[in-house]
Amino acid sequence: MQPVLLASANGDVGMEAAWAILAVGGSALDAVEAGTRCVEDNPDDHSVGYGGYPNLLGEVELDASIMDGCTLRAGAVGALRGYRHAISVARRVMDELPHVLLVGDGAARFADEIGMQAENLLTPEAEHAYREGISGRLPDDFRDAQGALIGDLLRRATGLATDPERVAGTVNFLAIDTQGNIASAVSTSGWAWKYPGRLGDSPIIGAGNYADNRYGAAACTGWGELAIRASTARSVVLYLQQGLALEDACRAAFADLAAFERDPQRVLMSMVALDRAGNMCAVSTSAERTFVYRTAAMKKHKRTARLHLPLVP
Ligand code: ASP
Repeated sequence: MQPVLLASANGDVGMEAAWAILAVGGSALDAVEAGTRCVEDNPDDHSVGYGGYPNLLGEVELDASIMDGCTLRAGAVGALRGYRHAISVARRVMDELPHVLLVGDGAARFADEIGMQAENLLTPEAEHAYREGISGRLPDDFRDAQGALIGDLLRRATGLATDPERVAGTVNFLAIDTQGNIASAVSTSGWAWKYPGRLGDSPIIGAGNYADNRYGAAACTGWGELAIRASTARSVVLYLQQGLALEDACRAAFADLAAFERDPQRVLMSMVALDRAGNMCAVSTSAERTFVYRTAAMKKHKRTARLHLPLVP
């Protein structure tokens, strides 16, 4: 089988590393992890890994998940603080623990146990954006005499949380290797200025990420709360299982989303998908979204437009 690799547009920086693995017969799982790590290292991407925008308290909290379509095993971390390679922590959860998802202090403890380097993920740029954009705009009565945010008022500030796709985007990687094995990886710092501890769809298997060798894989960016409620990534794979062609499966999963939102035209959702034959499909409710991909016939990866699928009420 010829390998295939696709990613959300910000996966561009990881395409070479991921393809280098697939090109020599390496596994889809290793490829999607390697590609994602490059994005997590990119300080200019403010919605993934190092340099990600922080939560309402100014802390960077990362979510990530990885799924092996061969074994149907998965690993994930949520609200991980202090370790940039959330995808590799998720991979080790899958490989070493009888669990799927670790969050918060437990995820950080595990990252430390497996020898990951602890560091401050808040870059000066991200901190500046936080101070200018959010912290400085919070009303005075959100702070105590020392200037610290008053914890029990934080919920009032969640209206300031923003969809990070306006500033960058979560990263999705999907691959099929020479053995026909499929893997998927998703990593994000989530919505900027989110309530501390908020998890999006990225670490939720079935919501933002799903892979199954028998049918295909899908991964999402956009409104995580919606993908969680609608089980969007798993829906695509189930539609494939029911015999729909890849594009029809993506269209069906997107059509499902309309029922979950009073004003579906507001929804920002994007998805990349792959079937077991190596066909690709990338869709978005926005006309401007692109994705990157590479097949064995190509000398370099290419960026191209997604299929525009606005949600109709
Ligand atoms: N889906 C991500 C989340 O909800 C954010 C995004 O992709 O824009 O955390």
